[in-house]
Amino acid sequence: MDLDFWWLLIVPVAFALGWMAARYDLKTLLSESANLPRSYFRGLNFLLNEQPDQAIDAFIEVVKLDPETVELHFALGNLFRRRGETDRAIRVHQNLLSRVDLPVTERDHAMYELGQDFLKAGLLDRAEETFRSLEAGDYALGAQRALLTIYGIEKDWVKSIEIARHLETMGADSLAKEIAQFHCELAQEALQQKKPDDARNQLNLALKANPQSVRATILFGDVDAAGGEQQAAITQWQRVEEQNAAYLPLVAEKLMKAYDATGNPQAGADLLTTWVDRYPSNDLLDVAYQHVATLRGPEAAHTLARTQMQKSPNLAGMTRLLEAQQATAEEPRRSELELMRTLLRQRTKNLPRYTCQNCGFRARLFYWQCPGCSGWETYAPRRVEPITASN
Ligand SMILES: [Zn+2]
Repeated sequence: MDLDFWWLLIVPVAFALGWMAARYDLKTLLSESANLPRSYFRGLNFLLNEQPDQAIDAFIEVVKLDPETVELHFALGNLFRRRGETDRAIRVHQNLLSRVDLPVTERDHAMYELGQDFLKAGLLDRAEETFRSLEAGDYALGAQRALLTIYGIEKDWVKSIEIARHLETMGADSLAKEIAQFHCELAQEALQQKKPDDARNQLNLALKANPQSVRATILFGDVDAAGGEQQAAITQWQRVEEQNAAYLPLVAEKLMKAYDATGNPQAGADLLTTWVDRYPSNDLLDVAYQHVATLRGPEAAHTLARTQMQKSPNLAGMTRLLEAQQATAEEPRRSELELMRTLLRQRTKNLPRYTCQNCGFRARLFYWQCPGCSGWETYAPRRVEPITASN
């Protein structure tokens, strides 16, 4: 019998243990809050009353009295920075740094956060100096990344390359794509300053870093064309097809100009027609259509537009096809086609855009670096119509 009922004792024993545990928790909580300085509660009160300045003063008082509240300051600092109140964030982090007894890890952390505050406030010199001071420790990698951002904003590509290489040695993911882009930026500057040898030198370095750099190949062609070597430029731009055919629309117009300059525009039109056939794209069709219409007449351009529309139907292709039909039509059909095309163009004129695959920023021009998120090569090299346009 005893054996059958002993387990009934478990319930009251468990209850008693639970009650004791709750009492213990309550006691601990009470003693902990008794240890918190009054300024902490004053600070909280100010914060709740939306008086952040007074709250900071109160919290600064807390940190003077109680070193354990360092985390509270990091939380506050980040909160202010995110709200765009960088001067307050700077004050919080500088206050932490002014403490002589702050452990090294906390000091590095505060320094890193202060650098981020300066960066957000646009004080690039001070941000750079702050991040430069973090060469070792847990925040060194983050600091180097921040320096890369700063040099990108300043368009200091030499320093960007140096930092990117350093980051790779620190174990960061490969930055070959970015390094090649930095060399391309330097090449572009050299090209603008009419220093073709410097430009070629940078482009060779770009291709060494990233043999797939389409931009380097395109720029090689630009350097050749600027030096009057049209045939060499054509050969470079043709290489884009092997590297990545998606980028061909970016060289189509340049290529036709070079063929024109060599006195052989028909060869250019042939090449563009082949490309449009192999890699259907509205952007390629736009260039090919204009040149085929000029060189071979409206019937040939019409055939080109019709074939493309059959392969890849879309609004831009439809506008182009109506234009082609209109060019060879008689009145009154010509006026009807004009009306249809005008209506369709009004509906589509602002639609096709390059779209950043990272942040979704849409742009009329193609960018190698997104103006929205500063990512490199985040734009697909083709303008796309948004899905809603087809409704
Ligand atoms: Zn972006």
